[in-house]
Amino acid sequence: MLNSSMQALGEKRSTIRELFEFGKSRAAVVGAENVFDFSIGNPNVPAPDCVRQAISDILASENPAVTHGYTSAQGADFVREAIAQDLNRRFGTQYGARNLYLTAGAAAALSICFRMLTTSPDDEFVVLAPYFPEYLVFIEQGAGAKAVIVPACPADFQIDFDALEARLTQKTRAVIVNSPNNPSGTVYSEQTVRRLTDLLTQKSKQFGHPIYLLSDEPYRELVYDADTVVPFLPNFYDNTLVCYSYSKSLSLPGERIGYVLVPDSVCDFAATYAAVCGAGRALGYVNAPSLFQRVAARCSGQTADLSIYAKNRDLLYQALTSYGYTCVKPQGAFYLFPQTLLADDRAFCEKAKAYDLLLVPGTDFGAPGHMRISYCVQTETIERALPLFERLAQDCRI
Ligand code: PLP
Repeated sequence: MLNSSMQALGEKRSTIRELFEFGKSRAAVVGAENVFDFSIGNPNVPAPDCVRQAISDILASENPAVTHGYTSAQGADFVREAIAQDLNRRFGTQYGARNLYLTAGAAAALSICFRMLTTSPDDEFVVLAPYFPEYLVFIEQGAGAKAVIVPACPADFQIDFDALEARLTQKTRAVIVNSPNNPSGTVYSEQTVRRLTDLLTQKSKQFGHPIYLLSDEPYRELVYDADTVVPFLPNFYDNTLVCYSYSKSLSLPGERIGYVLVPDSVCDFAATYAAVCGAGRALGYVNAPSLFQRVAARCSGQTADLSIYAKNRDLLYQALTSYGYTCVKPQGAFYLFPQTLLADDRAFCEKAKAYDLLLVPGTDFGAPGHMRISYCVQTETIERALPLFERLAQDCRI
């Protein structure tokens, strides 16, 4: 006998996977260069030089048995200390190795946090829509808890505070925030963060237990305008747990490296950190990849060349809005999330396939009537795709 929900999950193809298969079959007919795959969030800019340098230095200078050997379950001490020092430099904090648990990317970090905060199947995690679809899988299938979805304000994808307040209950364990956001590119300002943390402080008092803030930050450094600041949430709210990933900042998604940050300020720090270690152990998420732990120690705080994403965002945003698409200008991450020109976003994305444009329906992110366009592609790909977006728009108006 098998666990039927796991089997169903494994058998279900994601939209992105389906688009990938469609793209492959079209490439065989029209040539790969004529298929415009905007579906996947795989960074296209190379990892920064410091990554290559770190890898070659480590391989040249260290004993392979140590480099590739087991570290402690939560990650090597010196690596956690180096990452903590980088955070301290950037955010004025006082962290040390004690505050970090290294993971295979943000996916593992999130799964650990959902697991360690779940005390009963009735526990609720508030997810603000639009959201990264895997949250629902991690919460419901992974941790066995409930996801409560709260739509953002449609005009700007900022938090709808009235809707959020109405959904916070005695059962709420945490609110997940993702800023810069996948798929909308929205960033929460300091004012928004203060309003959110005031609400969570008030509700934690009312319910007599902490409501945690889970900050999912794979896009932390990916912002494009000088005046866009991404507030560091632990500096605003004691009970914040940060799930970070180097996948996007260092262009290393396949290497699987990230962390959970447990600040000293969380209530009952020692027990909380122990629960993170316990969930890591229960899930088998111990000892994040050793070589890339060492790379992270040397490269934390640096980024790949983000100027290409800034250029792509501006090009795509200006062209699409001039063709009649309505879109909130993204402040960060590498996605555009315009409204679809047909009310049915799935039908619209299906229609786009006839132009070899591969776009993901907003329904997958909990925001029907939209589409996600990943612009982590060559600028030239966007330039060649723009006439197709224009023809698609004309086609929808007929
Ligand atoms: N959270 C968000 C919002 C993401 O977009 C992604 C990946 O695209 C992840 C988490 C998972 O990141 P990782 O590759 O580090 O597991």
